[in-house]
Amino acid sequence: MKALVLKAYKQFACEEVPTPQPGPAEVLVAVKACGICGSDVHGMDGSTGRRRPPIIMGHEAAGIIASVGSGVSGWGVGDRVTFDSTIYCGHCEFCRRGLINLCDHRRVLGVSCEDYRQNGAFAEFVAVPQHILYRLPDGLAFEHAALVEPFAIALHAIRRVPPTLNDTVVVVGAGMIGLAVVQALSQTGCGRLIAVDVAGDRLALAAKLGATHIINPAAEDASAATLRLTAGLGADLAFEAVGVTATVDLALRCLRKGGAATLIGNVTPKIEFPLQTAVTRELTIHGSCASQGEYPACLDMLARGALRAAPLISAAAPLAEGVGWFDRLYRKEPGLLKVVLVP
Ligand SMILES: [Zn+2]
Ligand SMILES: [Zn+2]
Repeated sequence: MKALVLKAYKQFACEEVPTPQPGPAEVLVAVKACGICGSDVHGMDGSTGRRRPPIIMGHEAAGIIASVGSGVSGWGVGDRVTFDSTIYCGHCEFCRRGLINLCDHRRVLGVSCEDYRQNGAFAEFVAVPQHILYRLPDGLAFEHAALVEPFAIALHAIRRVPPTLNDTVVVVGAGMIGLAVVQALSQTGCGRLIAVDVAGDRLALAAKLGATHIINPAAEDASAATLRLTAGLGADLAFEAVGVTATVDLALRCLRKGGAATLIGNVTPKIEFPLQTAVTRELTIHGSCASQGEYPACLDMLARGALRAAPLISAAAPLAEGVGWFDRLYRKEPGLLKVVLVP
């Protein structure tokens, strides 16, 4: 089969590799669309240590079952599917509690790190265990279904700390995840929904996707603007989808006393934390990682048009053009959001 292989850091080849065989309880999926994730772009130069070459990356995918391994039940050749980016074991203490994103033995598709190497979906075929499969609703395009993973991350974050009716909510960062959070929040009945980002085009998109207010911290003080909008109180909730000191700090400074922040972004492993703000204002800080069974809800919302993938897709391109797209994303070409590769 054809696959986009990361041969060495920052070095790809679209080449012929052996087609994987589905093992027991696994299916072989013919990949019809696979999104390039920010973590792939960050990982391709070795900076995260989670894309050690050689590796076929890609964990946001949808396709058609091409063959099934032994012991597979309930799934057949021709089924239109997507799958969780995380392969969880189903048996550890955390899986048994339903906390599948916290599985002790979790492996992420398209990731190679110290502990494991799990080839992903930038290829014509990928083998995945049947227990992480989800059926696609009729009429949901593969390219749109491939974006279910970032939406599931957004839904999970909101489920960690759901807004109550008419809450003011700030979303810091209007990249892929931030925009998915904005879209999902717009369905929750929150009152003011404030998107914060330094990129004007992303803010404009956030406004189109449900943000009631947009703030560019390069142009104005975002916490002062939030206070103005809330009669001096501050926001009830904040979702942080970047993960650097400045943006976490900003998220916390936008909150009212007793407010809560949900941290999703983690592009830097460590930040400087505004301890006194958090303690003296009794803020609650939650972490949110990946998703925990939110796929069916997201697929249903995408099929109903309650969540929209199309506005987030900058380009859908053949797999063979993946090398060029990775390069453009790596160079942070302005205006690019999600690129979907089609094997
Ligand atoms: Zn991802
Ligand atoms: Zn487990």
